[in-house]
Amino acid sequence: MTTIRLVQGDITRETADAIVNAANSSLLGGGGVDGAIHRRGGPAILDACRDLRASRYGKGLPTGQAVATTAGDLDAGWVIHTVGPVWSASEDRSALLASCYRESLRVADELGARTVAFPAISTGVYRWPMDDAARIATETVRDTPTSVEEVRFVLFDDRAYEAFAQQG
Ligand code: ADP
Repeated sequence: MTTIRLVQGDITRETADAIVNAANSSLLGGGGVDGAIHRRGGPAILDACRDLRASRYGKGLPTGQAVATTAGDLDAGWVIHTVGPVWSASEDRSALLASCYRESLRVADELGARTVAFPAISTGVYRWPMDDAARIATETVRDTPTSVEEVRFVLFDDRAYEAFAQQG
């Protein structure tokens, strides 16, 4: 059984085997949680991302997929980068958002990670409505078979925390 924990705060301050990054497809960093992870984690993460672009992801990491790098100076073994979908009112992209959580857990299993911290993927610049994102995140983690013992959702503000807490 995987325990789900909710924490309010800055994910770059967390201790975990793996910290998930809401990256963009370029893997070269961006704003929001991505920028914070690269800032606090230091240049080793960007170096590893550049290597991934040069080897496996020349066209970028596709939406819904996940890949691990060093966590640099973060208090974690790895950063798992995943690319959330941009919210669309006209197209249902829920399966891609669910895939981010499922694929991140699959990568975590491959690494042998037992504790994994997730931000609320796609709910910032990518504009996914918080309540719906919280439901998809929680349901997907509950429904995904994994050896990860603790999934920690690290929510940046009250609104995100409340939305995840509503999921019971
Ligand atoms: P996306 O492009 O997937 O929407 P963002 O980084 O813009 O990614 O936002 C995803 C979520 O992460 C938002 O809810 C945002 O408030 C939150 N966030 C931003 N910085 C941090 C941080 N340091 N720790 C945890 N969550 C963060």
